[in-house]
Amino acid sequence: MPAAYEVTATRKRPQDFDRLVGQDFVVSTLENAIKERRIAHAYLFSGPRGVGKTSSARLLAKALNCESGPTPHPCGTCDSCQAIAQSKSVDVIEIDGASNTSVNDIRAIKEEVMYPPQSSRYKIYIIDEVHMLSTSAFNALLKTIEEPPEYIIFIFATTELQKVPATIRSRCQQFRFHLIGQDLIMSCLRSAAEDIGVEADEDALFWIARESTGSMRDAYTLFDQVAAFSGDHITLQKIREKLSVAGFGAIASIMRDAISGDRAATLDGLSELFSSGVSADQIIKDTADFLRTMMLYKAGIRRTDILGSALSDIPEDIVDALSEEQIEAALKAFLNLYRDIRYSLSPRFEIELLFLRLSSLPSMVSASELVRKLEDLKKGVADGSIVMKAPRESIKVLQVPKTEEQQAPAEMPAPQQPATVENPPMPEAPVEEDEDDGFAEEPEKPFSLSLGDLGAIAEALRKMGKAAAARYISNIERIDEDDGAFTFVTSKALAYNSLKNDEKSLEKAIAAAFGEDPAIRLRLEEKESGDSVFSPRMRELKAVFGGNLIRTGKEENKPEEEDAAEHEPVRNAEDNGLYTEPDEDD
Ligand SMILES: [Zn+2]
Repeated sequence: MPAAYEVTATRKRPQDFDRLVGQDFVVSTLENAIKERRIAHAYLFSGPRGVGKTSSARLLAKALNCESGPTPHPCGTCDSCQAIAQSKSVDVIEIDGASNTSVNDIRAIKEEVMYPPQSSRYKIYIIDEVHMLSTSAFNALLKTIEEPPEYIIFIFATTELQKVPATIRSRCQQFRFHLIGQDLIMSCLRSAAEDIGVEADEDALFWIARESTGSMRDAYTLFDQVAAFSGDHITLQKIREKLSVAGFGAIASIMRDAISGDRAATLDGLSELFSSGVSADQIIKDTADFLRTMMLYKAGIRRTDILGSALSDIPEDIVDALSEEQIEAALKAFLNLYRDIRYSLSPRFEIELLFLRLSSLPSMVSASELVRKLEDLKKGVADGSIVMKAPRESIKVLQVPKTEEQQAPAEMPAPQQPATVENPPMPEAPVEEDEDDGFAEEPEKPFSLSLGDLGAIAEALRKMGKAAAARYISNIERIDEDDGAFTFVTSKALAYNSLKNDEKSLEKAIAAAFGEDPAIRLRLEEKESGDSVFSPRMRELKAVFGGNLIRTGKEENKPEEEDAAEHEPVRNAEDNGLYTEPDEDD
């Protein structure tokens, strides 16, 4: 980088309307007005900071005072053009409204305007941040812009249009400037990087563009900052390291841990962020950004300039796991935290607490969701798709012996069992009526449960206030059907243990969702360990005691190390001495 480095915002300041980016409407209106010599005596440029208001004011001054003008395309070479470009024109007076707010300053202007321009066509006053003027200053100004001398032109600029008195506004030709689109900022940054001969990764420029939130000036300022420490190659990695930002991926990962209820991993992830130097403010800000992107994506927005993220960075699993209302609630919580954080004893504690609370997010039900569900229920009852049944307590009592009976090895030849190890069961197949134990009520049609029903079960659990169970039900990987009883199989120990603790609720939820109450069992199955080659009794034992089922007679079927590590809460079979022999029928 050259020693005398000109800041990019200055270097890239447009010298021609054609170079003014992102304000096409303003540009074409001004150009036409100049072409047709419809020149007003007072202009008011309003809009966010850094989008080109002052640049436009200078361009307009140039266009009006160019020796070959007034022209929409000032020559840039005449004395007037050059003087304005160097801010040296005696006839173009720039005043910062923020520091010249008094009525005396305006009186000085009032007197000055009596003298015609020295060397130009017009005497032009550019007053920036005009809303900062005092009321009396405005009143003094008003007299001047009501009846200005022919050669006087005022160009006012403001970020806060509503603070400019209506009496002033109504006497000005108004132009509203808009935030500049992310794509446009990206392409300007690309060209800025080319200008200084620096390679810049797209994702790095994307980040800068997003951070600048539509302000070209902010984008260039940030670009300079990044370029200063990036050497000849600007990368997102360098930005993250040097500017200590959390990054989308890091937030996504912590968020994923938080909503799946893994508190240890959540706190670990946060701790890593803090120790890499990311400030509490930044974490809250980055998380709010992340949640906003989720919210917009969920609402169907796919334009990356609005999302503030590349589509490939969107974590679909998190989007799917949360409803719109849940994402909104989380975003609100982080925005509130940002507001309150300066009063906090420990920002870090607040952040940790909030992330842990996110674990209850998936089970949060909003009022509108409840109303919708009630409507569905009403409709279902009305059109007969939901059939209400009387509670069948007596049958429930009878089901207990059934479960025990089925545990008896002799009862369970289960010839189709091994087939279900690798292949999903065929729940469509009617329950075989080979067993009449007097309590299996004759169903009108065979009742079956498939993975597709988990959503409805989760809903029912949620309605019962069983948030944890509702969350973990999604970890069920297979439902085995066996003589009208259903075995919910998961390889996730955490999910298994939690659901096992709440087995009664699970049965109630299925009854509520489908009006059926089949016997439900839960099974923890090691991935690829082939538990189902063991008898149901063994599997029941495993369900009660935990651990893994291992063949000790024939070939050792030892679980893989990493598998064992994955299921921490379940103690290893070797630890608790639970060695098991497969049954003779296996
Ligand atoms: Zn010129």
